[in-house]
Amino acid sequence: MEEQEIINFIYNVLEAKFAGLNEREIEELVKTAQEYITEYPHLAQIAKDKTISERKTMEMQRKYENSSLCATCGGRCCKNIGCNYLTTDIPSLKEEDILKLLKTNRTSIISDIAIIPQEKNYKVTLLLSARNSHRQIIDLVSVGTPCASLGPNGCKLNFKNRPGEGRHLIPGKYFLCNSDLNIDDEINKWCIYQEILKRMVTKYTNRTLEEELSLEMENFFYDVLCENFYNATFESRLNALTQAEGLIPYFKEEYQKAEERYLAKNNNLRLLNRRKI
Ligand code: SF4
Ligand code: SF4
Repeated sequence: MEEQEIINFIYNVLEAKFAGLNEREIEELVKTAQEYITEYPHLAQIAKDKTISERKTMEMQRKYENSSLCATCGGRCCKNIGCNYLTTDIPSLKEEDILKLLKTNRTSIISDIAIIPQEKNYKVTLLLSARNSHRQIIDLVSVGTPCASLGPNGCKLNFKNRPGEGRHLIPGKYFLCNSDLNIDDEINKWCIYQEILKRMVTKYTNRTLEEELSLEMENFFYDVLCENFYNATFESRLNALTQAEGLIPYFKEEYQKAEERYLAKNNNLRLLNRRKI
């Protein structure tokens, strides 16, 4: 048997997937599984971890999922922006695992930009997120658009394959939905994966992170000035305006370039939200 088959075999026995078998056949299966567990403890561990993680997911699903509330709401959270992955969502976070996820066309590398006013600086953390509509694999700064995985009947991903941020959202009445995650802590956990993610930004764009961030920031300002909001919700548009306002002092050159492009295109001084920088 191949390693994966042994893992699946042990897993099925641990989960008591014995439908249609008689007692003697079950005894045989259990005996064989015990032999495998003794002979291949590392594979047995993977099977046990899988069991624990599946049970945890089922528990979460029972606790958090509320299809009727979300159906009434129509997926307001997912219409604003895709949810983020947690580092624990991806088996080993090796380069090949991340690439596999990116190739599904449902995932993007995004950035969290934390402003540190007292240092007049900012900190960029790269992380993975559900892809937004009209967006690419690398989507460091953009106006939030509805998640590309949102279908007419809600999330197209089954509960256990959803990014952790979405799984941890607890639907509430009157859309007072809550999360039991500390988002800042979860973003900080991505710090150790920055080098891998930076390499991927360069792989997909042929630019360094700094070059790509600068270009996307300029495009973001330009989109806000031109009101290129694609299919963004009203809430997302407001967020984009507030976000742009906060970022201009830290990305003055990018804003100037965006403004010049806007003026060249419109050939007048009818600047929306003209800023003093
Ligand atoms: S979690 Fe809340 S905002 Fe999101 S779809 Fe459900 S009820 Fe709506
Ligand atoms: S992945 Fe699913 S839960 Fe997360 S934002 Fe997209 S549609 Fe919503």
